[in-house]
Amino acid sequence: MLLPTTTYRTTAFVEAARRLGVDLTVASERPSTFESALPDALLTLAFDDLQRAVRQVREFGHRYPLDAAIGVDDDTVALATSINQALGRDTNPLEGVFAARDKHLQRTVLATAGVPVPRFALHALGEHPDNFVETTPYPCVVKPLRLSASRGVIRANDSGELVAAIQRLGAILESESGTDECADTGLQYLVEQFVPGYEVALEGLMTHGELNVLAFFDKPDPLDGPFFEETIYVTPSRHPASEQAALIDCAASAATALGLREGPIHAELRFNEQGPWLIELAARPIGGRCSAVLRFGDGSVSLEEIVLRHALDLPLPSLEREQSAAGVMMIPVPGAGVLEDYTGVEDAKRVPGVDDVVITAHRGETLVPWPDGSRYPGFIFARGDRPELVERVLREAHRRLRFMVRPASS
Ligand code: ADP
Repeated sequence: MLLPTTTYRTTAFVEAARRLGVDLTVASERPSTFESALPDALLTLAFDDLQRAVRQVREFGHRYPLDAAIGVDDDTVALATSINQALGRDTNPLEGVFAARDKHLQRTVLATAGVPVPRFALHALGEHPDNFVETTPYPCVVKPLRLSASRGVIRANDSGELVAAIQRLGAILESESGTDECADTGLQYLVEQFVPGYEVALEGLMTHGELNVLAFFDKPDPLDGPFFEETIYVTPSRHPASEQAALIDCAASAATALGLREGPIHAELRFNEQGPWLIELAARPIGGRCSAVLRFGDGSVSLEEIVLRHALDLPLPSLEREQSAAGVMMIPVPGAGVLEDYTGVEDAKRVPGVDDVVITAHRGETLVPWPDGSRYPGFIFARGDRPELVERVLREAHRRLRFMVRPASS
């Protein structure tokens, strides 16, 4: 398992491995103090240097033979793909994984393949916006090529807003310069057509080039910008079956166009009177804590177990989600500043239907709202008979939470 030190995904994967009786080596980009005590279970890898990391894994594999590698985010998925290739496993082509993680490359591949994507143009931070702001169709969206979780994604309704959005994105990219995400692509950004309509998220597993839908999530809060912080995901979908089918087809064609044949995918799509639109497809499972909302078969199988089983060629259980409706709220950032305290967690957990309330931000942490930030302070999980009920439960639980934030300047 390639697990960056900052990921929230560790526990769920470690639990799934334990359930399956799989021996797990956790590789991270920073050394762990326990590494010498557990040399087969912990490994430090140069996540930012694919070739070097693959060499490190080969050396490790001489001592502790490995069967398969799994990544959890865009970069570790690329490394896992290289490792799986080196291990001779049936895996995705590396170009497909690279295309999935670079927003411009992805748009180019998908547009060429005829997948409906917004019109887009690539620009550089050094370029004078006067050259294109008058000819850009509005509303538009400005976005970085390699950040994630909607960080730096900004809607602009006219030329003045576009210039301001580019400046704002420029500051975010400068603060990131030097990090791997921005090494090659940090000075460029996309300006693309804003696609109106409702948005959904699709969680899938590619097996031999076929898309298996694991979950189809509605996003009941409008995502009209100017920033695109997520809030509620609820499944099953309440949209008409024909629209869901068109959206699934669109995601499947996108995965095929990118050459993704094996492993988890997570796609964001929109639907309007013109039909489905592919906003983004990632070659990885859903991020953060959100996967906890998904249970399969009799309700005991997690998404991580499915991902592990698939990676190891173990028999797959039913990929049908459990019967009940389920949802997660990514708790909105309550303000910019230092989180001094929060209350109401127990009260929120008492709302019937709430499964769990997890506050991941700690007291003293600086909260940064979108578009500069990309970390939710926590998550609320709920289940119920119907999706509308789950949505109500999530909103009621959220109403019971109180966050005390001291503005950064005071
Ligand atoms: P990230 O990988 O950072 O999540 P995305 O490209 O998926 O970036 O954009 C994040 C969110 O911004 C999307 O889920 C969507 O709500 C919104 N968005 C991005 N591009 C567009 C677009 N062209 N039209 C409408 N909304 C968009």
